Amino acid sequence: MTIQEIIRQTLREIKARGLQLTPDAYSEIFCRNARRSNVIIEDCQKMEKFIKRLSPELQSIVKRRQVSTIDQLIQYLASEVMRSDGRKSGEIIGAYSLLVKRLLQAVSILHDEEAARLAQIHKSKVTPYLEKGEIDAIREDWNRFIMEYDDSFLDRLSLYCKTDTQDLRRMVNGLIECFRRMENAKSCNLEEVAKLIVASLVPSIASGMNDEIATISAQVRADPQLLTSQAMVEDIRHMIKKRIELDKKAVVEQMTELDTIINHINTALVRVIDRGDINNKEIRKIQGELGNIELKKDSFEAIHAKLLTIANSLESETRVLGEEMRREHEEMEELRSKVRILEEALRKERKKSGTDTLTKLPNRRAIDDFIKKQEAAFDRYKDNYSVILFDIDHFKSVNDTYGHDAGDVILASFGKMLRRYSRELDFVGRWGGEEFLVVLPKTDKEGAYHFGEKLREIVQKSKFMYKGTRIPITVSGGVADRASNPSMDAMLKKADENLYKAKKSGRNKIVM
Ligand code: GH3
Ligand code: MG
Ligand code: MG
Repeated sequence: MTIQEIIRQTLREIKARGLQLTPDAYSEIFCRNARRSNVIIEDCQKMEKFIKRLSPELQSIVKRRQVSTIDQLIQYLASEVMRSDGRKSGEIIGAYSLLVKRLLQAVSILHDEEAARLAQIHKSKVTPYLEKGEIDAIREDWNRFIMEYDDSFLDRLSLYCKTDTQDLRRMVNGLIECFRRMENAKSCNLEEVAKLIVASLVPSIASGMNDEIATISAQVRADPQLLTSQAMVEDIRHMIKKRIELDKKAVVEQMTELDTIINHINTALVRVIDRGDINNKEIRKIQGELGNIELKKDSFEAIHAKLLTIANSLESETRVLGEEMRREHEEMEELRSKVRILEEALRKERKKSGTDTLTKLPNRRAIDDFIKKQEAAFDRYKDNYSVILFDIDHFKSVNDTYGHDAGDVILASFGKMLRRYSRELDFVGRWGGEEFLVVLPKTDKEGAYHFGEKLREIVQKSKFMYKGTRIPITVSGGVADRASNPSMDAMLKKADENLYKAKKSGRNKIVM
């Protein structure tokens, strides 16, 4: 089959099934017919290409649902995205939630003033639907913090005592043991050591603790020898224990607030995931990486290095998704404009073929052809014939009041009405705009007037409905017959003049 034939077949089918000739209906039936005839049309393949990009699961659903146009596909996918907010996303949110909680926990128990300050600031900054720029700014803050973070001062303790600087509790306990052993040796500069201990103790997250620490700091600073007293060792030990407990409590309290933030972060993540069903694998990988972080074993730097990697891949992932969406959108636009071109071509074809697209009635050219045939019969056999030029009254205000679409519906209904109430032999056509011409063979002007009046009454009584509203319509008409006029053109002119008279004398009238 040639493409021309497929087009013809498609148009026939649309007509036979009484469908509206919309781009959607057209392309659906056209592509199906093309497929049946084994004709490969690139535009029809596009839909299949789109579908192939979906997950196998979605593909089979789309097939089952007989999604056959791009619009239907978009509608279906959109509804899937809405639905996917459900259980599956819920699980992912849960997993992220736990991970982010742990990460923030790690940050808040770090004994560093700057880290605590940053966490504090960001808690209020993170709100739902942050702009990318705002997220970048927060990430930038943390990048800077990591770059500047320097805990090498702890290493200097090893000058005096060999102790584990990776764990604060073990470090302090180790130091105390070490001092006890050195108690009599008096070989170290206690003043230096005291400063270092104080530095590693402050500040605590639990604010109540800071006064107590400050007091002990002041005492130790004033008299470093105190560090050698059993009482002071006990005090410090007690304070560390209390501090750990209070800090833990503070972390729990802050967690509640953090929950809100985490939910916001998750909402953003879910938006990314939902948008790209295709790239869920990538996101899972990122999730896996987050899961690999071991707070107990990894150092702060290691954690942050991992976090940075994760942030970067999330970022590039989002970019890739955006890129893909943009591309698909462009392809879709291209397809749409092709359909529009096709539609326009179709309209031109119809015009050429003599049919008016809106009313499906013969157009002016076809009417001319028909009148010419009547004219030949008139010349040869003196067969009289008549014309009535109908014009809908105040149609402009119908358009203005109810909209152009309503106007179109009325034009189509009026066309159908003319067809229904005229004889088989009569010729009904759209003359242009809201004007219709009926040609009545073998009929004089009285007969035509009679028909015109019948139509006028029917129109007046009819219910022209548009979206549940009744639109009152009346029509005027001008009648002329060939025998009373010297030429075909004179007859048409006469009909037009009579129509003008009908309008002049109040409309809803037929004049002959
Ligand atoms: P009158 O009673 O004197 O005939 O008044 P009218 O408003 O019907 O006449 P006018 O010639 O001023 O307006 C005709 C209107 O018909 C204006 C034009 O926009 C509208 N029209 C022409 N073709 C179409 C069409 O295809 N669809 C719609 N909706 N309106 C059309
Ligand atoms: Mg008019
Ligand atoms: Mg009019």
